[in-house]
Amino acid sequence: MKSVTVVGSGIIGLTSARSLQEAGFQVKLIAKEKFANTLSHKVGAIWFPFEIAPKEKTNIWATQSYTRYLKDLASPSGVSVIPFINAYTTDSNTDWKEQLPKGKVREATKAELPKGMDQALYAEVPLIEPRLYLPYLFNQFISNGGKFEIGFIASLEEMADLDNLVVNCTGLGAKELCQDDELYPIRGQILRCEKMDSVSFADPTKKGALRYIINRSTDTVIGGTDYENDWSQEVNPDDTKLILNRAKDSGIKEEPKILEELVGLRPKRTAVRFEYDPEFKNVFHNYGHGGAGYTVAWGCALELADLLKGG
Ligand SMILES: Cc1cc2nc3c(=O)[nH]c(=O)nc-3n(C[C@H](O)[C@H](O)[C@H](O)COP(=O)(O)OP(=O)(O)OC[C@H]3O[C@@H](n4cnc5c(N)ncnc54)[C@H](O)[C@@H]3O)c2cc1C
Repeated sequence: MKSVTVVGSGIIGLTSARSLQEAGFQVKLIAKEKFANTLSHKVGAIWFPFEIAPKEKTNIWATQSYTRYLKDLASPSGVSVIPFINAYTTDSNTDWKEQLPKGKVREATKAELPKGMDQALYAEVPLIEPRLYLPYLFNQFISNGGKFEIGFIASLEEMADLDNLVVNCTGLGAKELCQDDELYPIRGQILRCEKMDSVSFADPTKKGALRYIINRSTDTVIGGTDYENDWSQEVNPDDTKLILNRAKDSGIKEEPKILEELVGLRPKRTAVRFEYDPEFKNVFHNYGHGGAGYTVAWGCALELADLLKGG
């Protein structure tokens, strides 16, 4: 059996590891932290291509991921399909609606629009709850013979020495590891609140004024911010006020009861890095999925397994 080591235990590392196991590889996972401490654990996560490029590739990965998530609906995986209202303007890229199965997207009616939205699409999309989905994937990985180890990889040389084949899923960690100038953070602050009644929606139409609500099974996430090149991981009380005000302006009647304020840095890249390293030829890079890691994770993982199987 061919062996492969995956570095990174976020959504990209775990889906890569599972997909490679399904393709018949013996897989080892190494990460500097467990899945519960990753960026991937903190977020929404809704199927929606936000802040990711290039669209020619990410559209395909998003479609494949959508289909793959439907397979997890039957198990206690934290995946469900929910209605999601997404604002757009004439300047918006609405290509994503073409990626959905027939009958799963339409224009939102005036009555469905949250306050302050002029135009939106009403779509049925996967909601992937990280607190349930990451342990679900990890347990599947272990019960299929996977081995996990905590470890920090300091350089590409060190990474290349790990195994005959290595997959780099280190998210923003790849900036230092690969000296990658094309990778940068987009800071997102969010509020995890007691469960509310609101429909899930997003208004990504104005850069710097992102607002969204993701209603999950036991809590509600209110967002957010999208500050480019902001490395701060500290909660900013002014951002909390801003997020609450934007939620109020959207017509939310309930007073949100905040359980947790969270900050995450989206690993944005000019284009997702999905290729073999030109120098360390046994290393395959799979990082830089911006604000849409969950949206494209399975598409990338399945293509990765096909490529690696082909040698
Ligand atoms: C506020 C916010 C909301 C979001 N909402 C959504 C959403 O609704 N839908 C969606 O699709 N996406 C969403 N995203 C984006 C999504 O969270 C990311 O794209 C995704 O989590 C990236 O996953 P990853 O596995 O690449 O990175 P990470 O989760 O950061 O995992 C990286 C892994 O690499 C390891 N690592 C890093 N460096 C090293 C090293 N040198 N040595 C060893 N290990 C290392 C880390 O320990 C970790 O295990 C959101 C992001 C934010 C910030």
